[in-house]
Amino acid sequence: MASTDGVTIHPAVDHGVKSGNPNFGGGELTCHCASNPVKVRVGAQTAHNHVCGCTKCWKPDGAVFSQVAVVGRDAIEVVQGAEKLEIVNKDAPIQRHRCKDCGVHMYGRIENKDHPFYGLDFVHTELSSEDGWSAPEFAAFVSSVIESGVDPSRMDGIRARLRELGLEPYDALSPPLMDAIATHIAKRSGALPA
Ligand SMILES: [Zn+2]
Ligand SMILES: [Zn+2]
Repeated sequence: MASTDGVTIHPAVDHGVKSGNPNFGGGELTCHCASNPVKVRVGAQTAHNHVCGCTKCWKPDGAVFSQVAVVGRDAIEVVQGAEKLEIVNKDAPIQRHRCKDCGVHMYGRIENKDHPFYGLDFVHTELSSEDGWSAPEFAAFVSSVIESGVDPSRMDGIRARLRELGLEPYDALSPPLMDAIATHIAKRSGALPA
């Protein structure tokens, strides 16, 4: 087994995964601006929290992975600094709303009603000072960290560390989420009854 000495993933999990509180009801996300930060109220517990190796999710400085969860879009409310938000890429399936000043992504939203995950927003719960958010459960798009410049020789150590943390590494999303996407597509095509 590859050595996991010194392998870092993300500050929220590097010292062990903190368990969530099933009774937690949400909190407030704050961007990194020292003055007049953007604040987003998340009015519900998150789900499907995971670390993600893709190149699109926002990562804190130095982190190899992002940490990202979903919550119903109705639970998201910008409570301060809305004028500082801009969409990173209007053509991307997930429209990531970031702070123009510090670059932190406050929420990602899907506007295409045919998208399998329409209705869910993507959030980084580490932007909240509250404890109790749903715990990360797996690692998605692990191979993609190479696209950010991670040397391929480090991948054995990274996957070993993810397993050590209980975050099973996948090179796409987790099997339940991949199954949900395929089911959505099959229902739309008629391969499965709608
Ligand atoms: Zn900011
Ligand atoms: Zn990602």
